[in-house]
Amino acid sequence: MNKNKVYIETYGCQMNLADTEIVLGILQNNGYSVTNNSDAADVILVNTCSIRENAEQRIYGRLGNFKAIKDQKPDLIVGVLGCMAERLRSDLVDRKKIVDVVVGPDEYRRLPELIDVAFNGDKGIGVKLSKTETYDDIIPHREDGLQAWISVMRGCDKFCTFCVVPFTRGRERSRSMDSVIEEVKQLAARGFKEVTLLGQNVNSYNDEDSASAGDFADLLAACAQVDSSVRIRFTTSHPQDLSDKLLYTISEHSNICNYIHLPVQSGSNRILELMNRTYTIEHYLQLVEKARKIIPGVSFSTDIISGFPTETFEDHIMTLDVMRAVRYDGAFMFKYSPREGTKAFRMEDDVSEETKTKRLQEIINLQQQISFELNQELIGKEEVVLIEGFSKKSDKFLSGRTDTNKVVIVPVDNKIKPGDYIKVKIHRATSATLFGDFSGLVNLVQESLSLIG
Ligand code: SF4
Repeated sequence: MNKNKVYIETYGCQMNLADTEIVLGILQNNGYSVTNNSDAADVILVNTCSIRENAEQRIYGRLGNFKAIKDQKPDLIVGVLGCMAERLRSDLVDRKKIVDVVVGPDEYRRLPELIDVAFNGDKGIGVKLSKTETYDDIIPHREDGLQAWISVMRGCDKFCTFCVVPFTRGRERSRSMDSVIEEVKQLAARGFKEVTLLGQNVNSYNDEDSASAGDFADLLAACAQVDSSVRIRFTTSHPQDLSDKLLYTISEHSNICNYIHLPVQSGSNRILELMNRTYTIEHYLQLVEKARKIIPGVSFSTDIISGFPTETFEDHIMTLDVMRAVRYDGAFMFKYSPREGTKAFRMEDDVSEETKTKRLQEIINLQQQISFELNQELIGKEEVVLIEGFSKKSDKFLSGRTDTNKVVIVPVDNKIKPGDYIKVKIHRATSATLFGDFSGLVNLVQESLSLIG
């Protein structure tokens, strides 16, 4: 019997996608091959996310589908990886009897062994969190492409009261700078053009041990120096830890994107305190102002939670006010949902569903209006765009992104291909997309990757 094909589905954030690449790297080293067809698989893995309740519900639904396949094919191994593993292992394994393997984010090295346990008729469980595991030496499995995500640190020490991450992914730890730089070099050599450095709070990255030890600004600068034709992005930044040194580093390197994802979560200091976000709105706005001085043309995106416990109408208005003050290019906007095990879970979820929905809609409407206005301001201007491929809607158009992460659509032209940096003159804009015409290739030696500023 061939037990070597593994199929994996990934839910949640980019960290989870990066983890899936690590998992596949580990399994390939142990003789597994990857299939995109769940029917052909001997092992089906679901890399899960616990951030929001509806994510967990979707994953439960999907596991139900796989259970039905397993009923027809008893040798099939079904496993759950990632954030739901520790939280829900007894439910998944003992009560619902859906899965054979449950492996948390710090035990992926043991996955081949735990799958073998399952093939031998037992349950393969590994859910311990580690203070040191960073998978530094694992080469992730990546298809060829232009964009790659590298996780540079794991876990989080912030303990925001609404968030499960410190419990599901453990305490903060950083990879060695040398290993990250080496990975960027390998990606550049394979023709990748954009690398995003990932961590729950990259600003507290700290490599104390390796020869080239340093903080996140040092890491970012070193990655940018690998190849000036590779754009470097990073996410996520915590507003308490974003240093001046980091801002200057961004401004000094043309291939570090002028784009900062800076979650604000709420515009009310009272709510921020209840969330344990450890900054005030005044600090946040000063930071944005400082970043704009140091990095002309920098754009911001954010995360916003609507309807946190005790949120009043006035608190909600303060959130809208912050959005108007910063004028974010984009935002991830959600209704608060209590997560078991967090501090906020013990607070009364006292904002009604109806009010949360109404407030969220107002937040979304305002963001769309701001995005539309910001994009309209770009009409007639020239932007540098990294071409990524055909547009989703038509193969007569190519799609790419500015360094401020805006999607740009241009007509197909035989002078341009995916991986090229081109200049585009913008002639039309919606809240989500810019449309323009090719106006020349960018010569990376002579020009900055960014025309802004
Ligand atoms: S910074 Fe807060 S919201 Fe972000 S991962 Fe850490 S605890 Fe969660």
